[in-house]
Amino acid sequence: MGKEGKIVLVSNRGSYTLKETGGQTEVVPAISGLVSAVEPVLKERGGVWVAWGGREAADPGGPGLRMRVPPEEPSYFFAEVPLTAEEIRLYYHGFTNGALWPLCHYFLEKCRYDPLEWAAYRQVNNKFALAALAEAGEGDTVWVNDYHLALVPSILRRHRPYLKQVFFWHIPFPHYDLFATLPWARALLRGLLGSDIIAFHLVDYSHNFLQAVNKLLDAPVDYNSLTVRWNGRKIMVPAWPMGIDFEAFQKLAREPGIRQRAEDLRRQIGVEKIALAIERLDYTKGILERLVAFERFLEEAPEWRGRLALLQIAVPSRTAIPAYRQLRSQVEEAVGRINGRFSEGSYRPIHYFWRGIPRRELVSYYLAADLMLVTPLRDGLNLVAKEYVASRVDGTGVLILSRFAGAARELREALIVNPYDIEGMVAALRTALAMPLSQQKQRLFRLQEQVRRCDVRWWIAGFQRALLEREIKEDESVRRTIRLSGYNRIPSTSAVDA
Ligand code: UDP
Repeated sequence: MGKEGKIVLVSNRGSYTLKETGGQTEVVPAISGLVSAVEPVLKERGGVWVAWGGREAADPGGPGLRMRVPPEEPSYFFAEVPLTAEEIRLYYHGFTNGALWPLCHYFLEKCRYDPLEWAAYRQVNNKFALAALAEAGEGDTVWVNDYHLALVPSILRRHRPYLKQVFFWHIPFPHYDLFATLPWARALLRGLLGSDIIAFHLVDYSHNFLQAVNKLLDAPVDYNSLTVRWNGRKIMVPAWPMGIDFEAFQKLAREPGIRQRAEDLRRQIGVEKIALAIERLDYTKGILERLVAFERFLEEAPEWRGRLALLQIAVPSRTAIPAYRQLRSQVEEAVGRINGRFSEGSYRPIHYFWRGIPRRELVSYYLAADLMLVTPLRDGLNLVAKEYVASRVDGTGVLILSRFAGAARELREALIVNPYDIEGMVAALRTALAMPLSQQKQRLFRLQEQVRRCDVRWWIAGFQRALLEREIKEDESVRRTIRLSGYNRIPSTSAVDA
């Protein structure tokens, strides 16, 4: 990232999942937007990915696996942060997904603020920070990702003040009024402020963050330059919406095997128009509201019964959390009700799958769909919307997109909807189904221009530019003083933050 040095990437989950099978450790490549975005940089530049491997460790203090990856062409290291079952329960299912996730997505009624879970969050953040410190040397850049690890930057700063640090917050940052309900809001902000750069997808999220640090920590902020002063440092709080590998999706969408699979899918479903929705089964994604809108549409537009089907892929997610299990039964009940009402002969209005789909197959789904419904109640960005746009190589297709998805700021030629407004969603379905091909192509052309221009390389380059700028401005004498003051030590494992 900087002029020199390697990258130490830190995130809750990384590029590999470790599974125990018959006393053997199986190393399975993980699929996620973050992996597709940053793994190419690690492969090219070398470095280390510090992450939890997704398995339960028996010993809380035991070492994690450290290996060169990818196995077929080793180019960087994967360093596991081992977590025990108790840590996973309290830190992962508890504080991150039971407090921070609903809070940042404006679901205050789902937030559980439990001091024990907060204590586990602090402890696990400390573990991640120590693992990163063991990997990072002078001149390296530590790049921490997401709300799971908000305290890591300040721990790193305390032990290595000169270390270059970047943080990316991948979910929305909520308005101050909401964020201030968190009993540990100040500690969380102080944790993040250890970084040199704290980046978000949208300027709105940067503003919310600046307002929170201003009001809760009394820190001077500048909403124009998106900066905050903290402990004698000027911290940048920029907005860079994450991009996708546009060319990779275009290439996949042209592969004959994938195109054939798309045609097979269309034949199997056997209707004139296919609407597609793909997401993790999460209450933020607006699945129930969408099903109700689809049901209303079939009531109000009987001419489309038998001709339009919804292909709904719900990827299993966070199944240990009761709210997610409850949502699953509500979704499946709604699917059953709608299919019970409108199925006829071989026609089934909703084709529902509760499973994840590998990327190649995903592209055949994008190719098979005349309409794509991305209608979350709140979403930091939404990569699926961009992937659909990138995959439509013939220039047709309509994207219906929630105004509460961060991607709506960029994808202005989509049909923008309010997912809480069922009648508005019904109207958008009508508009999409009636849209002439020429208009579809016009809109999609502009959408593709945007997704191509602000792709994943553009996203990564934003960090590189910002760090470079910072290095140039940095006062060398300050760096020298810090180096001489003996901070360059790896702390003992008893160091606890916040
Ligand atoms: N994805 C996938 N298989 C699936 C569904 C989704 O590989 O069956 C990928 C999808 O391609 C995208 C990511 O998972 O890159 C989902 O990212 P998004 O921002 O849309 O939502 P999130 O799950 O991060 O909330």
